[in-house]
Amino acid sequence: MTRERNTKKYIRKEIYVVAALFMLVFIAMAVYLGFFVKDGSREFIYNSYNSRFSVFNDDVTRGTIYTADGHVIAETKTDSDRKEYRDYPDERLFSHAVGYVGKGMAGLEANYSFDLLKSHISLDEQITNTLSGIKSPGDNLYTTLNYDAQKAAYEGLGMFDGAVIAIEPDTGKVVSMVSKPDYDPNTIAKYWDDITDNTKNNSALLNRAIAGAYPPGSTFKIVTTIAYLRDNDGNPDFDYKCNGSITVDDYKIHCSSRKSHGNEDLLKAFSNSCNSAYAYMGINLDRDVFIDTAESLLFNKSLPADLGSAKKSVFDVDDDTSNSIVAQTAIGQGQTTVSPLHMCMLVSAIANNGELMEPYIADKIVSDEGDVVTETSPKSYGKIISESEAALLNEYMEAVVMDGTADSVDFGDLTVYGKTGTAEYTSNKNVTHSWFVGYAKDTTGRKLAIAVIMEGAGYGSKYAAPLAAKVFNAYFE
Ligand SMILES: [Zn+2]
Repeated sequence: MTRERNTKKYIRKEIYVVAALFMLVFIAMAVYLGFFVKDGSREFIYNSYNSRFSVFNDDVTRGTIYTADGHVIAETKTDSDRKEYRDYPDERLFSHAVGYVGKGMAGLEANYSFDLLKSHISLDEQITNTLSGIKSPGDNLYTTLNYDAQKAAYEGLGMFDGAVIAIEPDTGKVVSMVSKPDYDPNTIAKYWDDITDNTKNNSALLNRAIAGAYPPGSTFKIVTTIAYLRDNDGNPDFDYKCNGSITVDDYKIHCSSRKSHGNEDLLKAFSNSCNSAYAYMGINLDRDVFIDTAESLLFNKSLPADLGSAKKSVFDVDDDTSNSIVAQTAIGQGQTTVSPLHMCMLVSAIANNGELMEPYIADKIVSDEGDVVTETSPKSYGKIISESEAALLNEYMEAVVMDGTADSVDFGDLTVYGKTGTAEYTSNKNVTHSWFVGYAKDTTGRKLAIAVIMEGAGYGSKYAAPLAAKVFNAYFE
């Protein structure tokens, strides 16, 4: 009897000890996981010298990246040796937008690595997983990208190098972002030496949509037009007789195809994309107004866009700049460079009554259990163009599409507002980049802004504008 009681006592004591031990482990796990989930800083996770980086990686399976319409664009899979690897089902289609992991990181994989490697499933579940040696699923990232629009942009660019970026003017959501040359993120490690071979000079890792530095060509006439309006208190009166060319300080500027456009008002000069009229306009602008206008339109400034390392556009005119350079600048040649993102932001603001919504591509972080962890709200940068300036540019950009340089492009049932550009970038004037910037509106009032550049393709109206039409149709269908 006494012996039995002693055994019972002993067993009870053992249970207490085991229970207490479990409690301790549980508390330790909670503190450990809690540290990473609640307080782990981005810097801590990103520091590859941190020895706990791999531990953290071992506990959480990197989350999935989706398009806005639910297509998987990056996910973690397990190979036959039970080793995890990152899979990009659409290969090159999203390469610059989604980026890669393996040889360092780029794109969304880099900018949201912290979130993809955090798990917001319930703490109970995480502790159970850890105690059973199972990884917890990381949070998933939903982007703003539209699968069909991305595909149309990618396929439309075809074999050309260049970039396409499309943004919703009223929210700033990036709907498509393509840059070529590109790479397959699935095989980036395997072909790394080849991709980064400087002697090949194709810089396939550069996201030209946000970091390209291109001469804007005639798309810059949007900026010159706004400067003209500001120099004339908003009055659009303008008179010019085009003879096909203009000579400024011994420098001769020709109109496209050496065409004489005859008598033009501001609308005609814009829709004809008359170089002579705009060169004349440029040299007669108050220099400070021209500079202030460019800066108010974000030239020489960091762009307010949450898309990674976007490049500053350059507007290189000051009080000492010669008239011939100012004339070239006014028509988008000279030293001016822009990124497709910047041009897309300008037309996006025009489409949105002058108000610029800051572009973004990461819409929300969602736990594997479906709870929204964080969600991006559209953010206004404020008005960069007045409503009356936006209204006039709408009228001029519609004229480009109705009876100007892009009137041969079939945009279907959409109302389209745009500006073409043919930008010289070498001393050979026959080799030019093809630009189209603008936006489309459907019958319900939904809008999409776009910037397209096709390197070395020639006339904007012939190549870039039809590509924009394909993206618009894919998006609005
Ligand atoms: Zn002309």
